[in-house]
Amino acid sequence: MPKIHTRSIENNSMNYQQILEEIAVEVNPLLNKGKVADYIPALAEVDPNNFAMSIATLDGQLYNVGRSNTKFSIQSISKVYSLVAAFSALGTEIWNRIGKEPSGTPFNSLIQLEQECGIPRNPFINAGAMVITDMLLSIYDHPKNDLLDFVNALAGQNDIGIDKTVAQSEKKYGFKNAALVNFLKSHDNIDNEIEEVLDLYFCHCAITMNTEELAKSFLFLANGGVNPHNGQVILNHSQTKRLNALMLTCGTYDEAGEFAFRVGMPGKSGVGGGIVAVIPGTLAASVWSPGLNQKGNSLAGVQALELFTTKTKMSVF
Ligand code: GLN
Repeated sequence: MPKIHTRSIENNSMNYQQILEEIAVEVNPLLNKGKVADYIPALAEVDPNNFAMSIATLDGQLYNVGRSNTKFSIQSISKVYSLVAAFSALGTEIWNRIGKEPSGTPFNSLIQLEQECGIPRNPFINAGAMVITDMLLSIYDHPKNDLLDFVNALAGQNDIGIDKTVAQSEKKYGFKNAALVNFLKSHDNIDNEIEEVLDLYFCHCAITMNTEELAKSFLFLANGGVNPHNGQVILNHSQTKRLNALMLTCGTYDEAGEFAFRVGMPGKSGVGGGIVAVIPGTLAASVWSPGLNQKGNSLAGVQALELFTTKTKMSVF
């Protein structure tokens, strides 16, 4: 039998701190090149020179570089928490109202929704996230507080909250989101009042966290669905694999193919400039740089994660 040559990846001896510091230097020239989201006026005020990156490993280590203590608006990253909360409470029933296919269109596009009779392509585009938000309104007694409690437990904390200025700014200018939810309601895919759905949606998008908190809060997706901070089962194995599959195929909108190609990790981005990604069985990595590329993903953030998987030789492939 011919000898099989294997290429070893020595996770244990990996110097994550040094790798993060190298990445911070290498992405620095990109920080000014992206465009801060300005369709939500409160986000337009954020300094594009911010950069932070954190790694949380399943063996309990944390590594940070840059402004990893600075909180920022997590925006669409929150769609993972709301999806997990609904998936964990309702199971496969949620797929009667939402698809599991990449959209190939911008996150707030209306086009497919009309062609596909009010069934959003996936839970990570805005229309899909609003259907999930509607489910949470029906499940929870105190939706905002209950969702915040859920996020805090995932991060192993109790002080994660909402930036009300960002939520109000988004509400004031959220014309497209209002159009989406009205359209969904016209197709009977929203049970609650439109105002309530928009309110909870804008609030969860306006959650603020820093990169360290984000990395810690996604660790359960690298841990077979078990919250490593308290041992609680959030999702079963099968649900966890599926959640990661959805992040890989739909987590960065119409850049999901490019993200898989360059980074090779299931991940989720937000227009606040954050991205979180996981290597199942090993770690969660998060990055923040507010300047966005044309698809609405952090320009330096995608590059930082690509450098991370290149330098560590990690990938889900
Ligand atoms: N709250 C934002 C919106 O609804 C979220 C978009 C995003 O982060 N991609 O437009």
